[in-house]
Amino acid sequence: MASPYLVPVAQLLREVPSRISVELTAPFDADHEFEPRAATESDVVTDAEATVAVRVESFRGGLRVRGTVSAPWRGICRRCSVEILGVLEVPVNERYVENAPPEDEESYPIEGDFIDLAPLLHDAIFLELPIAPLCKEDCAGLCPRCGIDRNEATCDCQPEVDPRWARLDALRSEDDSSQ
Ligand SMILES: [Zn+2]
Ligand SMILES: [Zn+2]
Repeated sequence: MASPYLVPVAQLLREVPSRISVELTAPFDADHEFEPRAATESDVVTDAEATVAVRVESFRGGLRVRGTVSAPWRGICRRCSVEILGVLEVPVNERYVENAPPEDEESYPIEGDFIDLAPLLHDAIFLELPIAPLCKEDCAGLCPRCGIDRNEATCDCQPEVDPRWARLDALRSEDDSSQ
């Protein structure tokens, strides 16, 4: 299936420099190209629509694409495990060039009279998906002993003793007994 993010650019390439504004909203993953990520990882919401809002400007031999891409994402708070839903908005500033060598990682290819904004969208969003998100900046997390959500309730559990300190304590008491 043709990418829903194709933009015709023949005219832009004939008139250098010239520019157009493009705003496209379509499924993020129209071809189901990407495996869903693990449940604990942040991911784009399944079957969500994404938006690419960019200015496409021609230069000799290529195009500059500048603007923002956005997509709904979901993740799990790293402290309290609650589900987080949000919209990721990422600035982009990339080049599309004619006859790009395949090993060129700095730019995207111009394919005939079109550019496909989908790879740019995918790259920008996957790069910015939060790796270890928080539901809120000061999330208090779960009690490691009883599992209570400390954002909503308190418990009487004593703080966990770090095993490294526990070992030091043991060493210290050996010293005490030798004196
Ligand atoms: Zn949280
Ligand atoms: Zn507790």
